[in-house]
Amino acid sequence: MDDIDKVLVSETEIKNRIVELGGEINAYYQGEEVAVIAIINGAIIFVADLIRELRIPLKLDCVRVSSYRNETSPQGRPEVIDRIRLELKGTHVLLIDDILDTGNTLSEVVRLFETLNPASIKTCVLLDKKARRSVEFEADFVGFKIPDEFVVGYGLDFAERYRHLPCIGVLRPEMQNPPEWN
Ligand code: 5GP
Ligand code: MG
Repeated sequence: MDDIDKVLVSETEIKNRIVELGGEINAYYQGEEVAVIAIINGAIIFVADLIRELRIPLKLDCVRVSSYRNETSPQGRPEVIDRIRLELKGTHVLLIDDILDTGNTLSEVVRLFETLNPASIKTCVLLDKKARRSVEFEADFVGFKIPDEFVVGYGLDFAERYRHLPCIGVLRPEMQNPPEWN
């Protein structure tokens, strides 16, 4: 926690909001079965907590998308590097990511999944950094809107570190470029 400048969203705020979000999603799907697809690694903590608030039939799978390396800004076009194993044709798909930033990742994954002819595709993100959007894209379910700062914790990493922090915090600028990490 010493590497954190300030806490943006506390553990309690996250817990409370996830209960509300689960309620919104339950109400939206009205008992219909959903394929929840988590974009890992970032969404793993969020999806684990969120699905335990869902009272609808669901299947879970994950996709791995690469766009960020060990830096704090995007590296070109997002690439899906692990294919989905579920049959999504005719299924309601709920895509989950940790954070919506430029919008490149989610818009690309939605575009890809549309080719699989699901019954519907909705998106849910824990965090929305709207100021950074470079493609027109909005998520259907949003946990928190946050300002344009690089955050870690609750699944979000810097160079695979800090994912286990229970809150969302702003990483101290000097920790965003430690020479000994690669
Ligand atoms: P987008 O494609 O919308 O620009 O970015 C989405 C991905 O970028 C997220 O899944 C996340 O991995 C990464 N990302 C964007 N902003 C942040 C941030 O503030 N902190 C961290 N740790 N990752 C971020
Ligand atoms: Mg991610």
